[in-house]
Amino acid sequence: MFIYHPSINFSLIDYGIEIPMLNQRVDQIHQWVGANIDKSLLDSKLWLGQRFDPIRKSRLLYAHNENFIENSFKSPKSELFKTFELYNEAGELNRYRPENAKADLDSLHQVILEHIGGSFEAAQYALQNGFAFYLGGGLHHAMTFGGRGFCHYNDIAINALTLKNEFNCKNIWIIDIDAHKGDGTAEILNGQEGIHTFSIHQKTNWPLDSERYDKEGKLNPWFIPSDIDIEIARDENHLYLSKLEQGLEELSQKYPQPDFIMVVSGSDPYELDVLPSADEIQLNLEDMLLRDKLVYNFIKKQESPLLYLISGGYGEHAYKVYIQFLEYLKKERGWR
Ligand SMILES: [Zn+2]
Repeated sequence: MFIYHPSINFSLIDYGIEIPMLNQRVDQIHQWVGANIDKSLLDSKLWLGQRFDPIRKSRLLYAHNENFIENSFKSPKSELFKTFELYNEAGELNRYRPENAKADLDSLHQVILEHIGGSFEAAQYALQNGFAFYLGGGLHHAMTFGGRGFCHYNDIAINALTLKNEFNCKNIWIIDIDAHKGDGTAEILNGQEGIHTFSIHQKTNWPLDSERYDKEGKLNPWFIPSDIDIEIARDENHLYLSKLEQGLEELSQKYPQPDFIMVVSGSDPYELDVLPSADEIQLNLEDMLLRDKLVYNFIKKQESPLLYLISGGYGEHAYKVYIQFLEYLKKERGWR
């Protein structure tokens, strides 16, 4: 049920992009699963890895506009520069060191297509078998019109729309517990019948500290609300778990029983996460486990196929959040 391929484990540093999203996070989880979960429980193709098929263009088009997709295929670099914020406002190179790159930035696009393809394969696996945990995905900042916040294509929205359009799923819940708002997911899925978005996130900080309206008075797209948004201010960290619980209760009261659930399980609310733009929520490791148990036990009551995506998590301690939760799941689900 764990879905892994080495292509997920690409390092942005190899392309000259200096973002502290470390391979080590996926490596550590992968090693833990290898040492602690019986191989018979792991789908051999998906665990040991033939390559994932790149996501089809027709499925990208469910979530993104044609112009953006065509540009990404024709001139990946120009779009990837925006996704990873490689220019600053003055038009100078920002966090990009091509001289340190081992691979050309253009080639990253193909890796991303396989990564998104893997997320969709994990969704299909969960639909058929009830549960999957993908060691990647959760790229919730990518918008209809382009990549943002290190997320090029939005696998969450692509999965949801593919399940709705091709697999007859009628009620899909997306539960986003990353420190950042699932803003791209909310924008893409705004008004989509039968797909319900929930996001608990920091109240300000990136990108919610920007202007709410643009110069023409139009709402900036990252402020488009999810169906349920729970905001946590810096002085409200002690209320995180109770607000999360209330929000999930509201979700189950407002919307029909789901036939598919995705959890965007970022570890960046953790106090040892190193990304400055995630520092408004600072939960300790125990509270992170309480968060994960709360969400999992809430979902268990829905008896619905379930897909976990790992989403954001930065620095050398990020992996601990996932491993303690997997230890819990191992007992809870009776994995050998
Ligand atoms: Zn995040």
